[in-house]
Amino acid sequence: MMTTAPATAPAEGTEEIQDGGHVDVIIVGAGVSGIGAAHHLRDQLPDRTFVILDAQDNRGGTWWTHRYPGVRSDSDLFTYGYRFKPWRGPSIAAAEQILAYLDEVIDEDELGQYIRYQHRVTAASWSTEDRRWTVDVTRGDTGQRLRFTTGFLWMCQGYYNHAKPYQPRWEGMDRFQGLVLHPQRWPEDLDLAGKRVVVIGSGATAATLIPAIAGTAKHVTMLQRSPSYFFAPPTTHELAVTLRALAIPEEWTHEILRRQYIAQTDLLAQLALEAPGDLHTFLMDSVRPLLPEGFDVDKHLTPRYRPWQQRIAIVPDGDLFAALREGTASIVTDTIETFTEHGIKVSSGEEIAADVVVTATGFNMSVLGDVAFTVDDEPVDFTKHVTWRGIMINGLPNMAYVFGYFRHSWTLRVDLVSDLVGRLLAHMRDNGATMVVPALRPQDSDMQVRPWSDPENFNAGYVMRSQHILFKQGDREPWTHLLEHEQEREILPAADLDDGSLVYL
Ligand SMILES: Cc1cc2nc3c(=O)[nH]c(=O)nc-3n(C[C@H](O)[C@H](O)[C@H](O)COP(=O)(O)OP(=O)(O)OC[C@H]3O[C@@H](n4cnc5c(N)ncnc54)[C@H](O)[C@@H]3O)c2cc1C
Repeated sequence: MMTTAPATAPAEGTEEIQDGGHVDVIIVGAGVSGIGAAHHLRDQLPDRTFVILDAQDNRGGTWWTHRYPGVRSDSDLFTYGYRFKPWRGPSIAAAEQILAYLDEVIDEDELGQYIRYQHRVTAASWSTEDRRWTVDVTRGDTGQRLRFTTGFLWMCQGYYNHAKPYQPRWEGMDRFQGLVLHPQRWPEDLDLAGKRVVVIGSGATAATLIPAIAGTAKHVTMLQRSPSYFFAPPTTHELAVTLRALAIPEEWTHEILRRQYIAQTDLLAQLALEAPGDLHTFLMDSVRPLLPEGFDVDKHLTPRYRPWQQRIAIVPDGDLFAALREGTASIVTDTIETFTEHGIKVSSGEEIAADVVVTATGFNMSVLGDVAFTVDDEPVDFTKHVTWRGIMINGLPNMAYVFGYFRHSWTLRVDLVSDLVGRLLAHMRDNGATMVVPALRPQDSDMQVRPWSDPENFNAGYVMRSQHILFKQGDREPWTHLLEHEQEREILPAADLDDGSLVYL
């Protein structure tokens, strides 16, 4: 888990700063994005020197941070896995299976030697004169400060604060006699046997956690303010079973299943846009037969938003619904009025008894790892900048970032972005450029600036809570952050690196 600087660490600014050395590329983050980026960098530009810096004490990012019972993907692993490494397991995978897959990539690519754990990047300063970033790091284990320099900064830091989950406060929380915890900080030794558990939330985390603890706890109540969409696919895809039984090479199975899942997600995304009513009916009809008799579908499972304005929560093999049928879990849809000594009172007047309350309330978004950026001594205020294709930011030289898809698997974008960054670095080499910076062109002078995420398109709580600190997008390419894989898989490989929106020096 995250470590903090030891109590003996010298006061900030008084200690000696160690020289971390110079590399061609610094990758920040050793999660799915950082490991994927490193693979592609080695593959496409094997002569480049690089390091991967991560604040945590191990690899995996999200899959290392989250340790609550049942933690797993809700994407299929054929698309959540990289394009270059076949996935050999079931479609939906547990965190430890994903970590084992990442370990194999690290071993096969011999990436371990380049990863520096317990290295939190606190600041990054670009100097045009020196054509380099100076990157300040604080070690989590010793408190030691280090300074690296690099020609290119590749931010693979994910989108949320790993140390501080989003934890709203409710009236009366202080008098509650039981335990309140957030899934992002799950205690290793927590025993829920015989306990009454209330899980606040209706998203993927609640849907994952509840069936995993329902057999152990006395009872689990999912307490939601409003419902989410659920979809209950099988954990294992029949086609994968068939292809494996035929001893088809794993590379082929991986590619075939990838195409199958991409096509399925494309179809769902298209339906969400063009016929949201039909998709709503389809999703409702698909879960109805899995529910206990007399279950109030309208109240507990009918969301207030269009399908896919937020992620659809996956319930593999319908496990959450099995817990509802068995009576080990139930759903209350209401607003919290107050915590009491022994539970939670909701607006209807009902008091839900609880020994443990789990706040599955989501994340605090971080903008580029909460790193303090400066460009030629000017602090960067991201809210005044726009994205270049959701990969770079205007006015920030020699810096790329990875932000994955909301609807398709995150990793599909890691592969696409890595290809573009590799192409960009090769283009600079071939043209003798040492600096590239996205800059608005004369024809962009009338460009309308829009929020980073259009709420009409995607409005998950953590995104909406953070729009005011995020950079923006424009009304035209390449100043847009397209959230759709079906567009980007065509656009990014063909993107013109000489269309005037990238200035090379
Ligand atoms: C429980 C859970 C389940 C999910 N399931 C899916 C799924 O099924 N499909 C899907 O597409 N997405 C899913 N997501 C979204 C998920 O975050 C992404 O899929 C993906 O893991 C992000 O990878 P990443 O490497 O970009 O970022 P992260 O996994 O967040 O890793 C970033 C790493 O960067 C490090 N870091 C950050 N800032 C700094 C800094 N300043 N200095 C040094 N290091 C830093 C962090 O310590 C971390 O280790 C899920 C998220 C959660 C929380």
